[in-house]
Amino acid sequence: MEIHIQKCQACGSRNLRNILQRDRDQRVYVQCRDCEKFVARYIVSPAGYFHAGKDYESFLRSVARHPDLQSGRDIREWFAEVENHSQEEFDSLLEKAAAKYGPDLP
Ligand SMILES: [Zn+2]
Repeated sequence: MEIHIQKCQACGSRNLRNILQRDRDQRVYVQCRDCEKFVARYIVSPAGYFHAGKDYESFLRSVARHPDLQSGRDIREWFAEVENHSQEEFDSLLEKAAAKYGPDLP
């Protein structure tokens, strides 16, 4: 596993802005807040977006955009899994990032 804290390849800043676009798919465009250059683009996998602190209804709306993914799954149970795992993954990620970059993350 590799851990990487993103920075602007033009000016080296880590002061970045995520701009989300929802259309047929979900895309995240990353812009540098300091030099305003385009840094990166991510395409989120179907129902792959989880927003911490948002409720089940919000999750349901994101899943509803991908009806093929709903069959045979208890969506409320799925939400609970994603909610728990995302927080655990994030906590674990912070530990690994601190091991690589030190306790004061860049
Ligand atoms: Zn920059």
